[in-house]
Amino acid sequence: MYTADVSRYTHDIYRRCGMSGILLPKLSLGFWHNFGAIDSYERSRQIAHYAFDHGIIHFDLANNYGPSYGSAEETMGRLMDDSFRPYRDELFIATKAGYDMWPGPYGNWGSRKHLMASLEQSLQRMHLDHVDLFYSHRFDPNTPMEETLQAMVDIVKQGKARYLGISRWPLKAFEFANQYLSQRDVPLLIYQGRLNMLNKEVIDNGILDYCKHKNIGFIGFSPLAQGLLTDRYLHGNIPTDSRMAKEKFLKHDALTPELLHQLHEWNKEATENGLSLAERALDWVLEQEGVTSVIVGASSVEQLEKNMKAAYNRQNKN
Ligand code: NDP
Repeated sequence: MYTADVSRYTHDIYRRCGMSGILLPKLSLGFWHNFGAIDSYERSRQIAHYAFDHGIIHFDLANNYGPSYGSAEETMGRLMDDSFRPYRDELFIATKAGYDMWPGPYGNWGSRKHLMASLEQSLQRMHLDHVDLFYSHRFDPNTPMEETLQAMVDIVKQGKARYLGISRWPLKAFEFANQYLSQRDVPLLIYQGRLNMLNKEVIDNGILDYCKHKNIGFIGFSPLAQGLLTDRYLHGNIPTDSRMAKEKFLKHDALTPELLHQLHEWNKEATENGLSLAERALDWVLEQEGVTSVIVGASSVEQLEKNMKAAYNRQNKN
């Protein structure tokens, strides 16, 4: 039987999410990899326990995380039953809909039909009656935005989600979503986008600025560029247990000589400042004005432990 560490809230690692009542930990835990049916449940459980025991109370999921699709949410359901049920109201659990989930025209994108059915399935898999945060995972250029957004409003009104977020929407559509939702008294809590030292798109395209101006939270995903911004690949080889060796999402050809050169430069700078490359990379995202939290992935407790130093070391600075 799991009992959470009594000292889990002793570190001040929380930031307010936009102008809302919600505080999020600077580091949040992502379930995209390492929590699926192909992964060891015992290891997933250890990572989740370690996170919660250290105040990481925000878990980020999506309908299709696994593999197989849905299986990360099933792991979350198992964790609820085995460990977290007594702590449900301490947790901030997010899921998403929009990417491929089941066959046929209703299995993805932004229709009311897809979003509502997908969330229903997610709740069943996670053994929850509501999520804290429900996202549209991607912008659908072929469905009227009003349909997607009204379905999200109705989901909150039905009590199946407490807050709403959007992920990867372009700026103009994001602006529309923000206006639509605030006019219906369900303000947009947060925008989720990729942000790391190798990918500054949300800075260049004005998304992060818009979040700042409108007091909307911003949470960055892949802050370590899926492991590139760590010591994983620094020596030019591909460890057999790494994401690059196992997964289609991080391709071998990402590791160019130019990138390796850049990684070595950053690693040198980090070391001179007493940091690891991963800590420097996480610090860099957390230093960007307007960023509420970063969602890290971890394939072991040791990785998460190392990554948490970035949040903990900076606990009094922001
Ligand atoms: P990261 O950039 O944090 O990459 C995580 C991976 O980096 C780990 O699985 C591990 O890879 C490696 N790693 C982590 N810490 C260390 C360390 N200290 N030393 C060495 N290697 C390390 O994040 P992800 O790309 O996993 O994304 C995080 C989360 O963001 C996802 O789980 C998901 O919740 C969310 N996300 C959202 C998206 C969206 O569309 N909204 C898209 C993508 C992600 P290895 O397996 O090699 O050990």
